[in-house]
Amino acid sequence: MIGDVQVRNRGTIGGSIAHADPGADFPVILTALNASFVLQSTSGSRTVAADDFFIDFYTTAMAANEVLTEIRVPLPTAGSGTAYVKLPHPASGYVVVSAGALIARQPSGSCALARVALGGLGSGPIRAMATETELQGKPLTPEVIAAAAAKAAEGDGPGGRHLRERGIQAPRSDRLCAAGDRSGSETGGEFKAVLVMRDRARLLSRTRTTDTNTIVF
Ligand SMILES: Cc1cc2nc3c(=O)[nH]c(=O)nc-3n(C[C@H](O)[C@H](O)[C@H](O)COP(=O)(O)OP(=O)(O)OC[C@H]3O[C@@H](n4cnc5c(N)ncnc54)[C@H](O)[C@@H]3O)c2cc1C
Repeated sequence: MIGDVQVRNRGTIGGSIAHADPGADFPVILTALNASFVLQSTSGSRTVAADDFFIDFYTTAMAANEVLTEIRVPLPTAGSGTAYVKLPHPASGYVVVSAGALIARQPSGSCALARVALGGLGSGPIRAMATETELQGKPLTPEVIAAAAAKAAEGDGPGGRHLRERGIQAPRSDRLCAAGDRSGSETGGEFKAVLVMRDRARLLSRTRTTDTNTIVF
């Protein structure tokens, strides 16, 4: 749930993306979905992938004379599932921590593609690339998912350095929870699509107020 009635009715996805609030939902969702953004200026248009768009806190790859005119989201292949979960701040509803996942499953049940983005942990969406690699090509068993989730803090890509700089360590797998199980619904098979980590989120929200910014699981 995003915002109150007014925000939900009048706020735009484009405005959210252009604003690039590190606590916003859409940047994480669109990064997980491998979206790209069309930017228009008087000298022409260009398309920037979500991975390259979010540069820093409230800072994007858009130049001052560009306007975001389109958001392109590739159609997920058959057998794909998506999930987005967030731990909202109790007062504002904004993200404390969030995770978006796109998982494509082969007919055999193994993972054909995984894109996982985390929010609230850095200056923008963070691709959990080590998690994605861990899932790739493997059967999506609870053990495989737990091993992949344990790699969530090794995220590289946009904002990933913030995790390392803040000394965030990998969570223990028994403290992870699944973010979604939607992609198996067409086939009836159980399919836990990735992570993350309510316990970790609570720890993060507490440690944010300390001077160490270090989380120990
Ligand atoms: C009470 C409240 C609760 C909220 N809760 C949440 C929440 O839970 N989760 C969440 O993700 N967000 C939340 N939001 C943020 C909300 O989603 C954004 O404010 C909204 O999506 C912004 O859209 P807008 O169209 O109003 O953008 P604006 O506020 O009009 O624009 C935002 C910025 O982007 C620029 N901009 C807008 N459109 C474009 C464009 N097409 N090209 C280039 N630049 C552009 C504007 O110049 C401005 O600088 C909340 C906001 C409020 C007020």
